[in-house]
Amino acid sequence: MRTPFIAGNWKMHMNRAEAGALAQAMKNELAGVPHKLMVAPPFTALETVGAVLQGSNILLGAQNMAPATSGAHTGEISPLMLKDLGVSVVILGHSERRHSYGESDALINQKVHLALQEGLEVILCVGETLEEREANRVDEVVETQMREGLKGITADQLDKVTIAYEPVWAIGTGKTATPDDADAVHKTIRDFVATLYGADEAGKMVIQYGGSVKPDNVKGLMGRDNIDGALVGGASLKTETFVPIAQFDR
Ligand code: 13P
Repeated sequence: MRTPFIAGNWKMHMNRAEAGALAQAMKNELAGVPHKLMVAPPFTALETVGAVLQGSNILLGAQNMAPATSGAHTGEISPLMLKDLGVSVVILGHSERRHSYGESDALINQKVHLALQEGLEVILCVGETLEEREANRVDEVVETQMREGLKGITADQLDKVTIAYEPVWAIGTGKTATPDDADAVHKTIRDFVATLYGADEAGKMVIQYGGSVKPDNVKGLMGRDNIDGALVGGASLKTETFVPIAQFDR
């Protein structure tokens, strides 16, 4: 059985006071939820949110990471700095990093290696653009992102990796993939993990869906065989929407 994993990606929202208050409310309202939970505030609020989440069932995540531990990397954040703040999970290869900031599969792969070496868990994001979907290239795109992103990662290391399928056209648009469409891609991803690592690893792989997840569509999505959780953007910024998502029951 795979443990459902619900994660909130707060993106570039909230100052420290707002982030701390939101984390406190989530800590209170989500105590006792049986799923694995995480929130990823912006870097500037990690320390504040980390302090609030001490002793809670919510993991502290980061939204990105440098491909190096220290040195001349102006504007970057090292995995050592993240660990120093109590971060245990890092989101890598988010479509906003790929498409707005030009991150390549090779760079993302470097980050995946370093994060795992440093003992961080990884959420590796994959997903196609609308253009790629309309050209029937979904499988090819997600398989390439996975093959390249996971290059050199061993089966043992894979236990610390979650895949997030986030179709770019569904992010922040209010357009959600239907449960059928999402499950079909999740199955492609799981089958591809089997090709790369074997059936046992594929069976264990937690695959989140991301893209306009809301309280009213979470149950339909999570009811599907291959959908094991959610990476939530906009709806993770309020307890009214994140709490019911995180409390979903199949
Ligand atoms: P939305 O839930 O706002 O569509 O964002 C999804 C996402 O990008 C999470 O990483």
